[in-house]
Amino acid sequence: MAQSVWGYDSDNGPERWHENYPLAKGDKQSPIEINSKDVQHDSSLSSWHASYDPGAAKTILNNGRTCRVVFDDTFDRSVLRGGPLSGAYRLRQLHLHWGSCDQHGSEHVIDGVKYAAELHMVHWNPKHGNFAGALKQPDGVAVVGIFLKVGQTPKPEMKRILEEIENIKTKGKEAPFLHFDPSILFPKSRDYWTYHGSFTTPPCEECITWILLREPIEVSSDQMAKLRSLSKNSENEPVSPLVDNWRPPQPLKGRIVRASFK
Ligand SMILES: [Zn+2]
Repeated sequence: MAQSVWGYDSDNGPERWHENYPLAKGDKQSPIEINSKDVQHDSSLSSWHASYDPGAAKTILNNGRTCRVVFDDTFDRSVLRGGPLSGAYRLRQLHLHWGSCDQHGSEHVIDGVKYAAELHMVHWNPKHGNFAGALKQPDGVAVVGIFLKVGQTPKPEMKRILEEIENIKTKGKEAPFLHFDPSILFPKSRDYWTYHGSFTTPPCEECITWILLREPIEVSSDQMAKLRSLSKNSENEPVSPLVDNWRPPQPLKGRIVRASFK
């Protein structure tokens, strides 16, 4: 597997990432399957708060592996606080993982249930100086994970991202994405699970405090179809649907998942 070509196909997929990225076989890898019966309710877990500046949104891009929205993180402009975190973490980007059909696509699995997609909001701890520095620290990064489920009352707030997808159909495309408050994507309930894990893409650094929201948000079949219409190839290559960009659950290796709710 060449260094630059990790992906989700049989020849460069999650089973082979460790060949170039040994951390992928580490002790604190993500995603995981969460089993309610093994979760520890922790009454000391407080609620989390996001305070996002819509003016921090910059661009949306297709990098051939996901669709990503990038935010200005040069100062404490859009931050996440509370819950299991100490201090404020800056929002850097959000992206999605999704499937080729509605029956799978999420990375975390809850009591055997896979959702159609999973949204990740990536924040970093500015006490480590910069994003690269934060990746080397156990408390460097905080990711809010939100499950997407296909339903009858789709969240209109997803519309903005899905509209802009028209402009980034192929790998390498990037378009302006201005004035957007990602907190409109949060579900009503703030209940969450938390555990220490990793990025779910190489090099799979183990620097993440995961905050996984219990309540999924709903999307429509049409909205899922839009995501699946992205191509993992460049403009001058044949279209190859960007789907199934999810890593399967990794071994828990003794880690405890805590829940903010009973
Ligand atoms: Zn992700």
